[in-house]
Amino acid sequence: MEFGSTDFPLRPAWVEIDLARLRRNLQLIRADLPSSVRLLAVVKDEAYGHGAVDVARIAIEEGASYLGLSTLEEALTLRAAGITAPMLLLGERQEAELPWCIEYDLTVCVNEATTVRKLARLAAEAGKRVPVHVKVNTGMSRYGVRWDEALPLIELITAEKSLLLEGVMTHFAQSDEADKSFANLQISRFDEVMRGFSSRGRARPLQHLCNSGGFLDLPHAHRDMVRVGILMYGIFPSTVCRRIPGIEPVMSVRARIASIQKLKPGEVVGYGMRYTAASERRIAVLPVGYGDGFPRVRNQGAVLIHGKRAPLVGGIAMDALMVDITDIPEAQMWDEAVIMGRQGAEEITVHDMAKLKNSVSYDVLTSWRLRLRRRCVNGDTQFVRKEAELAEVAVK
Ligand SMILES: *Cc1c(COP(=O)(O)O)cnc(C)c1O
Repeated sequence: MEFGSTDFPLRPAWVEIDLARLRRNLQLIRADLPSSVRLLAVVKDEAYGHGAVDVARIAIEEGASYLGLSTLEEALTLRAAGITAPMLLLGERQEAELPWCIEYDLTVCVNEATTVRKLARLAAEAGKRVPVHVKVNTGMSRYGVRWDEALPLIELITAEKSLLLEGVMTHFAQSDEADKSFANLQISRFDEVMRGFSSRGRARPLQHLCNSGGFLDLPHAHRDMVRVGILMYGIFPSTVCRRIPGIEPVMSVRARIASIQKLKPGEVVGYGMRYTAASERRIAVLPVGYGDGFPRVRNQGAVLIHGKRAPLVGGIAMDALMVDITDIPEAQMWDEAVIMGRQGAEEITVHDMAKLKNSVSYDVLTSWRLRLRRRCVNGDTQFVRKEAELAEVAVK
């Protein structure tokens, strides 16, 4: 018996990743984009909780030409898994990270003159010409150099022989809502920078502005590349943005009934005794709790069992939640429940979960802890991974 072998018993709670849907979403996105526009697949935060190695491989196979990541560890994990595609590290790098970025061919965003000089020196020492992207802050005020101060930084980069200005980018504060006025202001600020640059008569770097919302709703901002995250995972960034028919969620969360309790009137369920049975009730326990990323709710929400909604009763625990299955008499021990996703005609969407959490879909996807093993279906199942393996790759 070996931990991690194929006969190792799966925990009766898991996150299912439908790789065929991921592939189809990528194909639909690719088909929707003019062929001249490149696709950067955003796979930061373990590909929004889906498992970055599998997602990155499939994204590259389906025509993504760049991968977007947040941390050095994320990028090195993919390099260690043998992924050689260009990778763009979003955000700001500490000086100590720069030699690693050069060694592992990770493209960095530079937003500061000191980083430009340091990177240029290190690149020259390594005998490399290192591509960089400039991030222009056009109004979101997160990362990047202000639009009205960007040209001197761009000048500085183009003057460094060991650096190559490969891209100029910006990021929208709001691209998926009906009101596009601020997004359009950001675009005009970005264009102001690009006009100042092109008038200096040099080769044009890649321009990229759009996240999923921008890709869907701001075609005039597609330019040379779009950076798509959440849409690839089958979730529309808002209720009002354009729809692409056929895009479907890749992730679902499932568990098996691990205990069934019979309640008499007046009996209670769970910590704090937050639920009291008004009549005879049948309660199922699912071995998933807030320790897995389920929102810590009481008497709120539901799961799907045999295609029917079973409401949550009581408060949720670290490792368990309880649902009322009185109206689902066919439910038995170890039957499968869907916590997020579709079963029969019913569905609990990521947006439903977001409401329960008082948060957004992005937070829901990334909050499922890695102790819920990611089980890939409808694809190359040799890439099934669990937390221990992910952690192992990450430290190499
Ligand atoms: C996360 C991120 C994206 C992807 O955003 P989605 O809304 O998930 O498509 C794009 N660009 C940058 C800079 C990001 O940080």
